[in-house]
Amino acid sequence: MPRPKQWPHSQGGERVGLVCRACGCQDFRVVYVKHRPGGIVIRRRECRHCGRRVLTREVQV
Ligand SMILES: [Zn+2]
Repeated sequence: MPRPKQWPHSQGGERVGLVCRACGCQDFRVVYVKHRPGGIVIRRRECRHCGRRVLTREVQV
């Protein structure tokens, strides 16, 4: 499964280490959640500070 390149503030976990690459904060709100077949959850998050949107893909087991 392809992974995005390592983020500088990553702490080893994609969920916990989600950091806005524009302003560096970790304060996101979820805009929407989309479920895909195979237990994949797509979440679009928006930075509360600068409004940058980040798409995360998680696999639920
Ligand atoms: Zn930001």
